[in-house]
Amino acid sequence: MKFEAIQKETLILDPKNNMARRSIPSEIRRDPLTGRNSRICHFMALKWDKPDFEKLVAGTEAWCPFCPDKVLKVTPCFPEEILPEGRIISDDMVLFPNIAPYDSLGAVATMGSRHFIPMTEITAERIAKTFRLAMEFFRKVDGIGHPESVYHIINWNYMPASGSSLIHSHLQVFATSVAPNLMREELEAAQTYSGTNGTNYWDDLVKAEEASGERYLGRIGRTTWLTAYAPMGVAGDVLAVVNGVQSTLELTDGDLSDLCAGLTKAMAAYDKMGIYNFNMNFFTGAVGDEHARVHLLFSPRTFFNQALGSSDVGALRNLFNESICMAFPEEINGMLKPEF
Ligand SMILES: [Zn+2]
Repeated sequence: MKFEAIQKETLILDPKNNMARRSIPSEIRRDPLTGRNSRICHFMALKWDKPDFEKLVAGTEAWCPFCPDKVLKVTPCFPEEILPEGRIISDDMVLFPNIAPYDSLGAVATMGSRHFIPMTEITAERIAKTFRLAMEFFRKVDGIGHPESVYHIINWNYMPASGSSLIHSHLQVFATSVAPNLMREELEAAQTYSGTNGTNYWDDLVKAEEASGERYLGRIGRTTWLTAYAPMGVAGDVLAVVNGVQSTLELTDGDLSDLCAGLTKAMAAYDKMGIYNFNMNFFTGAVGDEHARVHLLFSPRTFFNQALGSSDVGALRNLFNESICMAFPEEINGMLKPEF
């Protein structure tokens, strides 16, 4: 396991100190699996002001298609050959086809009837229930032998800075034969790693991170929680690896509960920094991908300028896919660890 980094140094004449010379360190890290770069800098302290949520949310309920008075009227149904019941409903959660599909088997699952749930009030049980709804959808499409039932993915955009166009919490749920870019790159690199080293990359990563402790957060059941060495998020990423599990359909109810328990810990920790938006993606292999391990990436999102609504994804990240993280992941680990 190679944790490579190139140290950089910038010299400036500092206007805050009578134009005296000042050295600013930074670092370019390489993801140990894919080689993807992540630039670590000291741009600012990881502390943001939260907005007035009442003001932010006010009025959005009136046109929200996922609120209980509208969800069964305005959302579509699956045709009977995919899902005879049209939608999957469990308690106050509803799963239905994504009206803006980016693949042939896409669904959206609402996380209940409550329009706005503050990040720290989303319980592990609620997330687990919605994950189970998604799993039911995956098992049904797998049961009919659908050709897109290869990679089963749950994504979550929470609140506007994450890319979510709605306040109402919901998951993106889809099955696809086409692995999304980074997932495909990881799967290919993990296969190469297995061929070269004769071991599984993810098992080795967990062992190395547990031994060093620098980025290790903890273990819940067979899920191991880490701060990512080369994060994509500006405030770091939290990575959960499910030991021994190659593909989403192998996840047990217990695994789902453990993943959700860890997610709420990450949310509680980032809430203390003033973060209230995030992305969360499942990364999975196909059945029989021995080099794969199901893992989940939780990436906090924010604004570079909240008043202007400036995205934390700029040209560097959007067009070069080059990440900037505003603190060292080991420091971020120290801020998250009390919750784990
Ligand atoms: Zn709503």
